[in-house]
Amino acid sequence: ESNRLIKLVNSLLDLSKMEAGMLKYQFEPAELSELVKTSLDSLAPLAAAKNITIHNNVYTSLLVRVDQVRMLQVLRNIIGNAIKFTHEKGTITIEGNVRGDRVEVRVQDNGIGIAPEDIERIFLKFQQVTPAKGESIKGTGFGLATVRQIILAHGGKVWATSQLGQGSTFYISLQSAA
Ligand code: ADP
Repeated sequence: ESNRLIKLVNSLLDLSKMEAGMLKYQFEPAELSELVKTSLDSLAPLAAAKNITIHNNVYTSLLVRVDQVRMLQVLRNIIGNAIKFTHEKGTITIEGNVRGDRVEVRVQDNGIGIAPEDIERIFLKFQQVTPAKGESIKGTGFGLATVRQIILAHGGKVWATSQLGQGSTFYISLQSAA
């Protein structure tokens, strides 16, 4: 319980620092596929516990300019949400594509989905969309607000598309370092 509280306080402090522009970032070129692999290492047990299949289709040699620690935080958050909001035996697909001078990461799930009227506000602080059928899924509601701050600091963009009951796709567009 103490550990959970310490984590909670730290993530709230992180977000406050980011919002105040006080967080220092160390940008360097990194291989997107490596970042995805590393983030999947820590999430694999969660996916396995729900029999969720993760297809990692990010091919090698996609170079992005990122703060590696913060970008791992982003990927863990978005992929972690995909696991959290997808039913047992669901599927998650991760892709990386070059779009001009940008690299676009796509995390697609076939989970509970998000209603159109909620899709903008999930990126705001403390916003949690009540899951369908009274399911209680624990969270804090500042994961995606933190993701948005980190991506903005990278000069990137993050957005989502979704269909309620069908699944969601989260997109991150980043500066290419190639
Ligand atoms: P939380 O700590 O609740 O996960 P986030 O800021 O990470 O907070 O997410 C905000 C809300 O966005 C979640 O509570 C959930 O309602 C919705 N959400 C995020 N990712 C997904 C997803 N992949 N599928 C369905 N809903 C999602």
